[in-house]
Order: sequence, then structure tokens, then C-alpha cells
Amino acid sequence: MIEEKLSKNVFKKGESPHIQIKNGCGFNMGLKAMVKLCPAGLYREGEDGTVTVSVDGCLECGTCRIICGGEILFWRYPAGGTGVQYRFG
Ligand code: SF4
Repeated sequence: MIEEKLSKNVFKKGESPHIQIKNGCGFNMGLKAMVKLCPAGLYREGEDGTVTVSVDGCLECGTCRIICGGEILFWRYPAGGTGVQYRFG
């Protein structure tokens, strides 16, 4: 149901990712929590335990920004004309 609603949104890529994990922070516990907390399911934990993020489909909800903070994530809104375009609700 949620996936069906999210699939109606449109995401336009920017020139660079608007969220990036800072160097050396891939094992942070806040990032590991984001694997379950990100409503768009964009955080993944690899077999070696390192967490990565792919911003395609980001809802710009800010949850990861609050949970991880600026020491772990470089977070900004996408440039104008890029990012999510809501099509449902
Ligand atoms: S802003 Fe929200 S949707 Fe985007 S990556 Fe962070 S938690 Fe996921």
C-alpha cells in the first residue's frame, strides 16, 4: 500500500546527492537505525556492516537529519527543480 502510493511520486535527480554520509561514519549506530526508519527505504546495510544511502526517491522528511545530525550526514534540500514531486496527497 505504501509502496504503491510512493511509486506515484516523481523524483528528479540533481547534479550531486543532497544527502551524503561523511567519510568514516558508515558504521554509525544512527545510520544503522535509518535502515529501518527511513520511510522511503533508502538506507542499506551491507554485509560488512557499512551503511550507505541512495537519495533517489528521498521524501525530504528530514528524519535522517534529526537522527544522525550534521556530524554524520551532509544534508541539504535538493536544488530548485530537483528532488521529489508529490503526486499523491
Ligand atoms: S530525508 Fe527522509 S526520506 Fe530522505 S533519506 Fe532521510 S529519512 Fe529517508
